[in-house]
Amino acid sequence: MTKHIFVTGGVVSSLGKGLTAASIGMLLEHRGLRVRLQKFDPYINVDPGTMDPYQHGEVYVLDDGTETDLDLGHYERFTNAPLTRDCNFTTGRIYESVIRKERKGAYKGQTVQVIPHVTDEIKAAVRKLAADDVDVVITEIGGTVGDIEGLPFLEAIRQFALDVGKHNCLYIHLTLIPYLKAAGEAKTKPTQHSVERLRQIGIQPDILICRTERELSKEATDKIALFCNVEPRAVIEERDKTFSIYEVPISLVENHLDELIVEKLGLRAQPLDMNGWRTLVQRIINPVHETTIAVVGKYIKHQDAYKSIYEALDHAGIALATRVVVRRVEAEEVEREGAERVLGGVDGILVPGGFNYRGVGGKIEAIRYAREKHVPFFGICLGLQCAVIEFARNVIGLEDADSTEMNPRCGHPVVCLLDAQFAITELGGTMRLGSWPCQLVEGSRVRAVYGSGLVKERHRHRYEFNNQYRQQFAAHGMAFTGTTPDGKLVEMIELPEHPWFVAVQCHPEFRSKPTQVHPLFRGFVEASLKRREARKKAEAARSRAAVSTT
Ligand code: GLN
Repeated sequence: MTKHIFVTGGVVSSLGKGLTAASIGMLLEHRGLRVRLQKFDPYINVDPGTMDPYQHGEVYVLDDGTETDLDLGHYERFTNAPLTRDCNFTTGRIYESVIRKERKGAYKGQTVQVIPHVTDEIKAAVRKLAADDVDVVITEIGGTVGDIEGLPFLEAIRQFALDVGKHNCLYIHLTLIPYLKAAGEAKTKPTQHSVERLRQIGIQPDILICRTERELSKEATDKIALFCNVEPRAVIEERDKTFSIYEVPISLVENHLDELIVEKLGLRAQPLDMNGWRTLVQRIINPVHETTIAVVGKYIKHQDAYKSIYEALDHAGIALATRVVVRRVEAEEVEREGAERVLGGVDGILVPGGFNYRGVGGKIEAIRYAREKHVPFFGICLGLQCAVIEFARNVIGLEDADSTEMNPRCGHPVVCLLDAQFAITELGGTMRLGSWPCQLVEGSRVRAVYGSGLVKERHRHRYEFNNQYRQQFAAHGMAFTGTTPDGKLVEMIELPEHPWFVAVQCHPEFRSKPTQVHPLFRGFVEASLKRREARKKAEAARSRAAVSTT
């Protein structure tokens, strides 16, 4: 029988519930258990696909094309659990389904209500992941306990224990223990209140995970346990991490979280072996090399707008024993100040995906700089489209080249909509989404780093390279090194004469893991590292020459 873990959060948002849920999944997998993870988001949007990254951070895309919350990225990076459409539900999606049933008459004349109809729909979504080959389903409830929108979800998970038996369910609540400098004390009251809210709803947490800046004293732990009605050993400290999010599972193990879960759910599990993971974390803490990469984008100020890209760069760092210093560059700053001023001194330039024209000028300037100065360049999605526009304008001489997304009436639409996209009028879920196969050209750089001729990558875009220009581009030195297997859609381009100028229409960042870096990120960071080393050597030679002439 599949067991269930429900992860809720209290006190404040952004506590890292997703990371904690992912870490729990990882620990259980390391104990030989088969896990599945899912997240419920209480907002009304049917999915985050139409939301501004400033509101919500990155939209994470699954193989099956579902546009999801970025916490699912953590799930994929930390575990091997397969993720599908059944792994992310919003209030909007739950209601959409209830209303569709109501219109079909499925409720046979009943008054349709939050309890039981909406809660039944939520419970059915949890049950979708339970199966013979699944030991534990971990369900994270987005938002904070006390939010009005979250209530139906909490009610549903309360009922769930009645349906499947309390011994098959575990409630884990993540809270914050703030440290008040003036009082010289860790404060437990917000946690007490948040647990009180949960208990009013009828949920008694079994385990409390407490985010804290400083070590929790025995006194504080005992107090939390007493007031929140949990065992003292089930009050788990999760201290802020200094180096990396990949330290989280280790600190949870040190506080015996895996043992507690296995015991409380009566699971049959193997002993834990975290040696591989500990080595990985040591590589993060003690890098040998360093390189600086500029990410030139439009949502730079939002911490999480390019989450998976920052993570994938870190994964390359882990593989290459390198500290990858990311310089987040606002594309409009490049427009204002010029590329040399903003990007001088970086070892690599990455232009990520995006929508609309704001900042595109700066991205194009950054790409021109990378191309002309031989700085390693990696373009992703809109990054490829900008590279195409830059090449058309500055190499081929098509001054009026553009994407029809930015300028529908441009003279040379080198990036445009295909017929299939023209007919679409709705915004939500209507892009080229999910995993697509890509055929790589023999002898190309991408073929070499992948080590394979046919690969699969995830997509999320409407516009495509305009094939009418293919020959003209090729004649000027651009290589089309990846296409759909039928050859019809351009997926990857590169400049063979450049040390590393690779751009892709897909989003490889969604497939990178700390234990298995994506080959394109590895190749790009390796090229950046080479540039850094070459520059350092040249500088040393120059200063030696200066000394010998004086
Ligand atoms: N806006 C572009 C398109 O829709 C690129 C999208 C992206 O970068 N994800 O094709």
